[in-house]
Amino acid sequence: MRNDQLQTEALSHSAHAPLVVVSGPSGVGKTTVVDRLLHLGSLPMRRAVTATTRASRDGEIPGVSYHFWTREQFEAAREHAQMLEWATVHGRDYYGTPRSEVDEYRRAGTGVVLVIDVQGAAQIRKSCPDCLTVFVVAPSFEVLEARLRGRGTESEDRIQRRLETARQELARASEFDHVIVNEDLDRAVAELEQLVRDRFNARV
Ligand code: ADP
Ligand code: 5GP
Repeated sequence: MRNDQLQTEALSHSAHAPLVVVSGPSGVGKTTVVDRLLHLGSLPMRRAVTATTRASRDGEIPGVSYHFWTREQFEAAREHAQMLEWATVHGRDYYGTPRSEVDEYRRAGTGVVLVIDVQGAAQIRKSCPDCLTVFVVAPSFEVLEARLRGRGTESEDRIQRRLETARQELARASEFDHVIVNEDLDRAVAELEQLVRDRFNARV
């Protein structure tokens, strides 16, 4: 390939709208912070609807909260290279990002935010080195546990599993570009907004 062609490809790639990865322990407030950011409407952004094999919770809407797939559907999508990343989370269910939720939007100028676990974040960092990765933490482990319980969506068994996963995930915070402490919600949203805004502005 000629040099000018290479340059054009590099330029158009970096000119895509940003890919933002938000990760952190279950119950820390990732969904709340990202939903608030999107609700502000200050940046052209969407959240990718990811796929999972776990059962839907009360109030979750298929195709909005998640794509709820069977294990067979998930494995077929993986085999056909339709997943940008995927992981087994909390030791049991598959979770993953369909490419169709990301690529065409970024090309069209809409930033995409992924709320995914640390294993998925590591895969994205490799396949998309220009992505912005943000790790969200609670002010303390006790606060994290209280939020997880307060959400009231999980059985005790699942809460324990999520807390165990949280300990492992917290040890990987340093892999991320930025860490946001979600203590005051408005401040956490404002910090994320600024990071994403800077990334939009840094486009070639
Ligand atoms: P995650 O997506 O990380 O699993 P959620 O967004 O579902 O977490 O938040 C878990 C619980 O914590 C929810 O009940 C949410 O309302 C609450 N929460 C989120 N952010 C804050 C905050 N800054 N202060 C207090 N509670 C919060
Ligand atoms: P929950 O079951 O509480 O909705 O989510 C459990 C965990 O799965 C969360 O930490 C969430 O970030 C992660 N997760 C959700 N979607 C994806 C995905 O597409 N890929 C990966 N790797 N993790 C995901």
